[in-house]
Amino acid sequence: MYDYLIVGSGLFGAVFACEAKRAGKSTLVLERRNHVGGNVYCEEREGINIHKYGAHIFHTSDEDVWAYVNQFVAFNNFINSPMANYQGHLYNLPFNMNTFRELWDIVTPAQAKAIIDEQRQIIMGEPRNLEEQAISLVGTDIYTKLIKGYTEKQWGHSCTELPAFIIKRLPVRYTFDNNYFNDRYQGIPVGGYNRLIEALLDGIEVRTGVDFLKDRAAYQTMAKKIVYTGSIDEYFGYKLGQLEYRGLRFDTERLEEENHQGVAVVNYTEREIPYTRIIEHKHFEFGKQPITYITREYPINWHPGEEAYYPVNNESNQKLFQKYAALATQETKTIFGGRLAEYKYYDMDDVIKNALKCKRMDFNRINGVVSLLRSW
Ligand code: UDP
Repeated sequence: MYDYLIVGSGLFGAVFACEAKRAGKSTLVLERRNHVGGNVYCEEREGINIHKYGAHIFHTSDEDVWAYVNQFVAFNNFINSPMANYQGHLYNLPFNMNTFRELWDIVTPAQAKAIIDEQRQIIMGEPRNLEEQAISLVGTDIYTKLIKGYTEKQWGHSCTELPAFIIKRLPVRYTFDNNYFNDRYQGIPVGGYNRLIEALLDGIEVRTGVDFLKDRAAYQTMAKKIVYTGSIDEYFGYKLGQLEYRGLRFDTERLEEENHQGVAVVNYTEREIPYTRIIEHKHFEFGKQPITYITREYPINWHPGEEAYYPVNNESNQKLFQKYAALATQETKTIFGGRLAEYKYYDMDDVIKNALKCKRMDFNRINGVVSLLRSW
């Protein structure tokens, strides 16, 4: 009998497993895919780590999380400074003085502010959705060119039907600063993300290619406690209905050139281009190879059985999630944690933070959805 059976070897599962082992608990990790690491997994080709399930850039302001991950792997000094391509013109991201200068040929922050202040006047009162939030942050020009098309293709919903918080992730600055994140710490694990996952799972029994849900009764008898990191609605056989996720399709290409786009990430912000971004993987680790690999990222409608990427945290899905969360509290043997089990648009550092909180709370006494636990 194991102390813990951990379903899923992504960041939540791997951190939980590592901490359980450190606490002297016996642990078995089951992974449905044929590799560990969840969506941070990378595939090495010709010395370049391909971010197989989409680009991951680690960033955090949390000292404890930063110290934690640095125990396992060093991080390089990559800073994400993506570009936006709108109808063939390039603009800096996030929205900052460089973007404003490119759009309006202005010189000072006061000039940029005057333009944005005038454009944002059409929104009165508290923004009720992503469109209103975006216009009230950056005005109509930026909304139209750099936000509307990108957001609607990414999420498959009109900006008026999406929650405002999604756009609040992006900084708006009146300085010439192209760092996409405001966090104090940022980087990519030296040697790639697989190093981090391998170090977390070092010495832990892992079985890949195993689907817990297909034989759950048998697996449940194998451990005192289950840590489930898959989709919460799938766990309950979709019995209250399906939660909505956004899917992704990746189209990766090898190019006979050293440097294709000069930066790791270029967003394509117009609606007419079907992909949201092109990633050139070598730039995450400052690769000097004579060839390069790029990946076009296409958002797609998700169907059960496919990889779920983004939870669509709008009102109706949140209501359904709350019902599943109530069912989860009745599963006294099971902890539900991570992006899919908590149905949350999480960044990596928050996933790690929550897995570490489980440890501080004494894992044995908790069950239900991690982020909803009362004592937090
Ligand atoms: N976004 C946008 N234009 C961009 C980049 C982002 O409108 O060029 C908006 C969009 O609504 C997106 C949100 O900002 O869903 C968050 O973007 P982020 O880059 O954080 O998304 P992720 O990297 O998690 O896919």
